Amino acid sequence: MPMNIPSTSDTEIFDVIGVGAGFSGLYLAHRLTTGGWTFAGFEAGPSVGGTWFWNTYPGARCDVESIYYSYSFDKALQQEWTWSQRFAPQAEILSYINHVADRFDLRKHFTFNTRVVGARWNATDRLWKVQLDNGETRCSRYLVSGAGGLSTPKDFDVPGLQNFEGLQVSTSRWNIELHELAGKRVAVIGTGSSGVQAIPLIAEVAEHVTVFQRTPNYVMPARNTELTPEQVDSIKGDYHAIREECRHSLGGIPDRPTPDKAFDVSAEERQRRYELAYERSGFNGVGAEFADLLTDVEANKTASEFIHDKIREIVKDPATAELLVPKYHPLGAKRSCFGTDYYETFNRPNVSLVSLRDEPIETTTANAIVTSKRAYEADIVVLAIGFDAFTGPLYGLNLTGASGRKLQDAWRDGVRTYLGIMAADLPNFFMVAGPQSPALASNVVMTIEQAVDWIADLMEYARDSGASVIEATVEGQNDWVDISEETVTGTLYATTDSWYRGSNVAGKPNTFLGYLGGVGKYRRMCAEIARRGYPGVEIDGEARVRHLGRIHQEIS
Ligand code: NAP
Repeated sequence: MPMNIPSTSDTEIFDVIGVGAGFSGLYLAHRLTTGGWTFAGFEAGPSVGGTWFWNTYPGARCDVESIYYSYSFDKALQQEWTWSQRFAPQAEILSYINHVADRFDLRKHFTFNTRVVGARWNATDRLWKVQLDNGETRCSRYLVSGAGGLSTPKDFDVPGLQNFEGLQVSTSRWNIELHELAGKRVAVIGTGSSGVQAIPLIAEVAEHVTVFQRTPNYVMPARNTELTPEQVDSIKGDYHAIREECRHSLGGIPDRPTPDKAFDVSAEERQRRYELAYERSGFNGVGAEFADLLTDVEANKTASEFIHDKIREIVKDPATAELLVPKYHPLGAKRSCFGTDYYETFNRPNVSLVSLRDEPIETTTANAIVTSKRAYEADIVVLAIGFDAFTGPLYGLNLTGASGRKLQDAWRDGVRTYLGIMAADLPNFFMVAGPQSPALASNVVMTIEQAVDWIADLMEYARDSGASVIEATVEGQNDWVDISEETVTGTLYATTDSWYRGSNVAGKPNTFLGYLGGVGKYRRMCAEIARRGYPGVEIDGEARVRHLGRIHQEIS
């Protein structure tokens, strides 16, 4: 009988090998080991935390409220942990993850500082043979990726960056103290969520900050606050109902119903409502005020222009304000940002903005970033250029399926999954919160818990029926690709370039990486699939009848 504790032996066969010790990997380890499976987890970093271990840049915090962005699987856990703020900072989230790891004694299931670099399915032995970066191999019946969606930093594709002789630091692998930027000329490249959070704090210490902006984004005030003891008591008193609401919601946070459309009301009424939504902020803020903001360009313009006006009000220099106004995409079609004093920072005398649309970077020298117009000297370059989302972490596992084909070859023309959890030709392989799941557009912790539970249930179903090989059928996968694409068709996401569609990485096929039907509908779909005996899945060679499209239509 194999032991739960990972051993150095490469002859031992684990029931499950798990990749990653972030939110996904930890819950996976907990759920599977309490279900009687032997589990060996491998984590590239030295400790638990995943995203929240690596992204320690100044200002890093979650922009989903912490009372929702936390585990719901254990009632005592959610009663004993107290969040200090509406949007917890990175350090507090990392403390929480460490607390969970200790509380449920999960570290013993993981080997740290060890990266999975390859895995091959052996059809004869019905095993995954997993290659580690220390040269060793491990074998398991199941392989589950909890490697995350935003964990592989995008390649440094800034021209000439290798010439730069000053310090280079990336937000996603931040390894310096903020005070080390004091008195320095700092160049920040990138103005997505990470850049938007980091820039105001860097500007407070640096001698000068030059922000290199390619695409201006919509930044709404985060309106972070301390949580009062009364608020905490009220949340804890009602946590069960709050979690239930999140589980059946659109985005994994309580829905704010918006039955009316932007032009159903007068211009004055729209303005009044946008002002209230702007005060409220968060994902139920301006971008969610009317039902058609993500499907109708003209409706969206009313919200976009509301934010444009806010930027012009805040930023004193009109030329800088115009550069910051997001004109290239509708509000929300690319991930919106929530910041603190972001636009206000551009009123500081030590901050300047360079629009790369007007003057692209041509090269980098030993001490400057050179655009088509001039050289900008810098002592430190901060890269906030984003991630190779979803496929980056999966391709890093170098998975070879039953046919001998690599996953990156199978997905050469675009991602193809079954529920964002399985893929044809990869028997006994699961992805927690993978591409084409609701992960991209949801409170991901809720999506993770649901996916882990569904995976564990399927494994138990197979175990109870004496089966040992589970695989998505090509037909089942085709159905899911159609369903997930249908949820995007007709929305403004379908026509906007962003990491949501893979367009931030050169050569990546342009396919939407999420499912937009909502967390609640997805949960009902997954439950219905389980109830019907897993249509679209082959269990020990027996294919279950599919018709996923019909099931998706039938569930409300
Ligand atoms: P991102 O949203 O992809 O932003 C990357 C930024 O870098 C964009 O402004 C991009 O410009 C720019 N860029 C990329 N390559 C460049 C190049 N070669 N030259 C110049 N500019 C370049 O990445 P991110 O800010 O790390 O955020 C990624 C996701 O992580 C977010 O959307 C969010 O889901 C998550 N996140 C969440 C939080 C939070 O909860 N608060 C914080 C951080 C991150 P273009 O737009 O023109 O490509």
